Amino acid sequence: MPLHVKCPTCRKECSWDNNPHRPFCSDRCQLIDLGAWTEERYRIPGRKVETHMGEDEEDKNEDR
Ligand SMILES: [Zn+2]
Repeated sequence: MPLHVKCPTCRKECSWDNNPHRPFCSDRCQLIDLGAWTEERYRIPGRKVETHMGEDEEDKNEDR
């Protein structure tokens, strides 16, 4: 019995097997979801966390 999952982006049912983009139905939905993610990340500094998070972290990593 084929396994079906709901695409998190468009909520369309798609098959899990033979689906390189699972759990998304297509590469387009995968990209949309990824884009939403990065947008969230860029939006975070504007809220309550100060902007120093990202830059500090990268500095530390380069130091080691
Ligand atoms: Zn989709």
